[in-house]
Amino acid sequence: MIHTDVVIVGAGPCGLFQVFELGLLGLKAEVVDSIRQAGGQCTELYPDKPIYDIPAVPVCTGQELTDALMKQIEPFAPGMHLGEEVQVLRRNDDDTFFVETSKQKQFTAKAIVIAAGVGSFQPRPLNVAGAEDYAGTSLHYRVRDPEQFRGKKLAVLGGGDSALDWALELADSAERITLVHRRDEYRAVPDSVARMKKLVADGVMDEISNAKAKALAGEDGQLKSITIQPKEGEAIAVDVDHVLVFFGLAPKLGPIAEWGLDINRKTINVDPEKFETSEPGIYAVGDINFYPGKKKLILCGFHEAALAAFAIKARIEPDKKVHVQYTTTSPIMHERLGIED
Ligand SMILES: Cc1cc2nc3c(=O)[nH]c(=O)nc-3n(C[C@H](O)[C@H](O)[C@H](O)COP(=O)(O)OP(=O)(O)OC[C@H]3O[C@@H](n4cnc5c(N)ncnc54)[C@H](O)[C@@H]3O)c2cc1C
Repeated sequence: MIHTDVVIVGAGPCGLFQVFELGLLGLKAEVVDSIRQAGGQCTELYPDKPIYDIPAVPVCTGQELTDALMKQIEPFAPGMHLGEEVQVLRRNDDDTFFVETSKQKQFTAKAIVIAAGVGSFQPRPLNVAGAEDYAGTSLHYRVRDPEQFRGKKLAVLGGGDSALDWALELADSAERITLVHRRDEYRAVPDSVARMKKLVADGVMDEISNAKAKALAGEDGQLKSITIQPKEGEAIAVDVDHVLVFFGLAPKLGPIAEWGLDINRKTINVDPEKFETSEPGIYAVGDINFYPGKKKLILCGFHEAALAAFAIKARIEPDKKVHVQYTTTSPIMHERLGIED
């Protein structure tokens, strides 16, 4: 059980900046995100796209903004729990909160900030009859243990970086890999595509492009074959032990919908003074919240994080008067940066 002041659900730009604003007020935060890297939409959806409306930063990419935020929060040493979804959130008898993740990690916190953006990113599923019967045993949406595929016949579905990276990574150890992509152009980096094409030309890997998975066959959760339907021509049956599906990630509100909050069409209603939800002690900032005039912009989320931090400080330490401190002279900032007063 990890005891902390605040658990932040979501490591997107607003969740990260929330760590900074809480840290300035002397509050410790633990951040949980269902994806494996920080940055939310910025790194998941547009790491290389330029952003032009971060105040005083004329241009930066989604990745650069995330890297800068990670550097900015470093002095406050937040616990980062990536690759696990917050599933359970409930109030304890003493008005603190109990939080549990998909990896059964448990926290108690004095306040919660939901910075969950458009929801938790989940792998897009394979839309073929019976696919769920094999999920987790011989049909996989992520690779946890590459050794599991040594000496096996694999079909890798997808045309992005994950599909190509894993097809290339497993090419040596698998018995045979068939890469299946619904187009003939790949979204992966050109170098990976070139390496894949070379393996296909050398007869090490098979490639079926302009084609889709049509049917699965097997028994007791163990796949035996996958039928691939090309855009033109006859269906092809490929013998497989495992199918790896990399169709990208899609956001889903997920467990947040079950936490008893006042939900407004996939967003959470908050008051625009404290950014508190309908549940006292649970706050929401960034794309996930709604209030009159709400704009889904990073800079708006930063403002919300600042005000939420003051409200959380007042809730946790009601007897302490909190003055706005400029960071230049803030004793906490000086202490964290090792600056002598
Ligand atoms: C293509 C594109 C371009 C954009 N360009 C701009 C721009 O130029 N300027 C601008 O201001 N905005 C831009 N935006 C919008 C901007 O990216 C969002 O406003 C911003 O990412 C919101 O940040 P956030 O921290 O609220 O949420 P997000 O970035 O969505 O991050 C939320 C995180 O919470 C996690 N999460 C959700 N539920 C759970 C759970 N139960 N457990 C654990 N983790 C969970 C998610 O996995 C996700 O990583 C753009 C968006 C897109 C798609």
